[in-house]
Amino acid sequence: MPHTILLAEPRGFCAGVVRAINVLDQVLEGSDGPVYAFHEIVHNRYVVDDFRSRGAIFVEDVSEVPPGAPIVFSAHGVAPDVVQAARDRGLRVIDATCPLVTKVHLETKKAARDGFDVLLVGHEGHDEVMGTKGEAPDRTRVVDTPHDVQSLVAGTRPIFVVTQTTLSVDDTAATIDAIRDRYPDAEVRNDICYATTNRQAAVKVIAERADLVIVIGSRNSSNSVRLREVAAATGTPAYRVDGIEEIDPAWYEGVGIVGLTAGASVPDTLLQPIIDDLRARGVTRVEPVIVAEETIEFRMPEEITG
Ligand code: SF4
Repeated sequence: MPHTILLAEPRGFCAGVVRAINVLDQVLEGSDGPVYAFHEIVHNRYVVDDFRSRGAIFVEDVSEVPPGAPIVFSAHGVAPDVVQAARDRGLRVIDATCPLVTKVHLETKKAARDGFDVLLVGHEGHDEVMGTKGEAPDRTRVVDTPHDVQSLVAGTRPIFVVTQTTLSVDDTAATIDAIRDRYPDAEVRNDICYATTNRQAAVKVIAERADLVIVIGSRNSSNSVRLREVAAATGTPAYRVDGIEEIDPAWYEGVGIVGLTAGASVPDTLLQPIIDDLRARGVTRVEPVIVAEETIEFRMPEEITG
């Protein structure tokens, strides 16, 4: 039975998620009427359910929000036409987009303005990708894999490459290699963020020592899903769960060392019940495995600071 837990560090909340949660917190606290959020503020079921229980209303379209009401844009960012639609409707816009996502928006917009075709490496349909693509929809194509790169219809403009912030570091390197092979003159920005990079590096280290890895995070959380994939790529069985209720105790059979980590949108409180349960099953050692220290903090948006 399990005797040791390896706790990945860093894990859990990143600076962009902390900021987005604080923004929605403050808007809720300062508002008498309903507060709306466009899309899930961060991709975590517990965080979203908690906000819902406190009165936040999550919408998929700004037309669902009554004129004059506050609307908070999520950490993943939104396309400019969504911002415009919200303003046209007379909504009070509070933008909680992570500054590292905003940077990708600016790169995309500038590249299109400078005459490039943009290749956006990312997952089609993800909130962040839709927002970034919206900066230059006619000039941006989304590619996910090296195969997608081969299938691109040739154009005449030079190529500029940006990426979603929460991709697999290794898979993205392969896709960028394929882009460089096909477009040797492409200008490439790899926008995978520090939090994604650090969490993947940490899960790799624990997965190499563990008999089983558990990643806490929701299924729509890109960085959580990637963490499970990175762990599994080492050959160690790895599962992603929203919380302890999704863990099958049969996973622990024949397992001595359990690796634990959490995606960037996951509150650390979700780990404690799992650690307590493992202690009850015989774990006597909880070992933090520190791969990187994070000190980044983002300023709150002007709509909050005034
Ligand atoms: Fe920002 Fe990275 Fe966190 Fe996304 S995962 S909110 S890009 S710091």
